[in-house]
Amino acid sequence: MRTAVCPGSFDPITMGHLDIITRASALFDRVIVLISVNAAKKSVFTLDERVALTRKATSHLPNVTVDSWDGLLVDYVRRAGATAIVRGLRAVSDFEYEFQMALANKRMNPDAETIFLTTASENMYLSSSLVRQIASFGGSIEGSVPECVREEILRRFAPDAGRGEQAEAKPASSKAAP
Ligand code: ADP
Repeated sequence: MRTAVCPGSFDPITMGHLDIITRASALFDRVIVLISVNAAKKSVFTLDERVALTRKATSHLPNVTVDSWDGLLVDYVRRAGATAIVRGLRAVSDFEYEFQMALANKRMNPDAETIFLTTASENMYLSSSLVRQIASFGGSIEGSVPECVREEILRRFAPDAGRGEQAEAKPASSKAAP
């Protein structure tokens, strides 16, 4: 049984995350999406909300579960009996941080490999923070996040939902400032 952990903030889960999780679920017997409590990052959605949204968005993937953790990633990986940490790479800008984390994790847990999956081209510019920014200005995030997540984000950011929804604001093609 090969288990992989997909760690991250998922604040909230986007189509970029979902693509990486889906592809990991085809490569491994079991995938645990691990939502971190990161003191350095102030999250918009609470940990419980992020877990609930991620569970909803991945409910169609039978070998994917969602968990949360406030300790070292390598400790969770060891406890779960996982052999891989799967991360997504978007651009060169992701690389230095990811490289550093992968080396640090390898040093702490030599039994776990970090595996990088390159983003799908349509998700290249997609991030949770961009989705939050666009939603907070009433722009359309359709296609950028799973539908169940979009509804929750609209409730959170735009109580008068609908305003701006006609504007095409899918990040990769939008020319408007978020
Ligand atoms: P973190 O704060 O740990 O970077 P994120 O929630 O931002 O957590 O990202 C979790 C993982 O998902 C990371 O490996 C990140 O590179 C990946 N990821 C985020 N957005 C995308 C995307 N659009 N395409 C591919 N991978 C992505």
